[in-house]
Amino acid sequence: MTIYNFSAGPACLPHSVLTQAQQDLVHYPGAGISVMEMSHRSADFENILHDAKTRLRKLANIPDDYDIIFLQGGASLQFSMIPMNLAPKAVDIIDTGQWTSKAIKEHQKCTQVNVIASSKDKNYTYIPKLDQALTGDYLYICENNTIYGTQYHQLPHAKHLIGDLSSDILSRPLDITKYDLVFAGAQKNIGPAGLTLVILKKSLLDQIDDSQIPSVLSYKVQASNQSMFNTPPTWAIYICSLVFKWLEEEIGGLEAMERINQQKAKLLYDYLDQSTFFHNPVNPQDRSLMNIPFISPNAELDQLFIAKAKEAGLINLKGHRSVGGMRASLYNAMPIEGVQKLIELMQTFEGEHHA
Ligand code: PMP
Repeated sequence: MTIYNFSAGPACLPHSVLTQAQQDLVHYPGAGISVMEMSHRSADFENILHDAKTRLRKLANIPDDYDIIFLQGGASLQFSMIPMNLAPKAVDIIDTGQWTSKAIKEHQKCTQVNVIASSKDKNYTYIPKLDQALTGDYLYICENNTIYGTQYHQLPHAKHLIGDLSSDILSRPLDITKYDLVFAGAQKNIGPAGLTLVILKKSLLDQIDDSQIPSVLSYKVQASNQSMFNTPPTWAIYICSLVFKWLEEEIGGLEAMERINQQKAKLLYDYLDQSTFFHNPVNPQDRSLMNIPFISPNAELDQLFIAKAKEAGLINLKGHRSVGGMRASLYNAMPIEGVQKLIELMQTFEGEHHA
């Protein structure tokens, strides 16, 4: 039975990437040893790192005045690294749920935070509009809210914008010039857990005074050492380079990826919108293409549906504990067949349990 993994992260990876990784696991071509066994200072690994960066730059159209760095510590470390490095006097943050709340908490340890808009009043089911003037040194947003299934489809205007793109990076074309800095944990659309991608304007690096920052947490140190100040997560970087290659060569780039993602999400939203049994609580204009939460008429039926789905090979559909119900994460590597199978199951379940 084919298993379709709807996990919000760590999430499904492209099958061809896993197969390639399996082949290379023991003997990386030409090296005779595994990537996991290679010195990060070896020519083979330096080529892998270079390949990953070059492919990403081309794929996401990242101009030369932006640096790409691979870090550790998860996306969560960026909640602290950003204010530690940029040393703002104050920042503006739009509160769209748990991941911005955590960013707010960490920022507050270093600086003054203005929460300039929030969708907390409706359990984060929409993207709030900005109706206040920006006064902070930068505006911080989370572009796709993994738990609630909301996504910015138009970015707020700000002179200096910083974005958590953990759950939608590379799902559509990226206009990095709108941002000073973006970051993403790899475990959804980029590769395995344990790696964090940061893309930032090179000019920011010149402004950083890192004399009081641990070296490993300094963007300046990490960038000037090409992500190799210390031993990087070599295997994870290697898998990322395979994912970038897959996006480029098998999918045909980020425009093509976006079309596929729109198609997948539309299938599920169209079904949800005509159903009188299942329901998606998100404001239609703010719906995410990546994470689609839905509920049935009650918690017992939710549980039963999740169990039936598991029996059918559709796994990890349980919603986040803070919202309950179900959540289907349709990241880049989820094939359209997985969405079709899910909808078939929902139709059958609805037929059996509709009052
Ligand atoms: N931001 C977003 C939008 C996320 O979805 C997550 C994880 N699900 C995080 C940050 C935190 O990531 P990590 O566990 O890598 O710290």
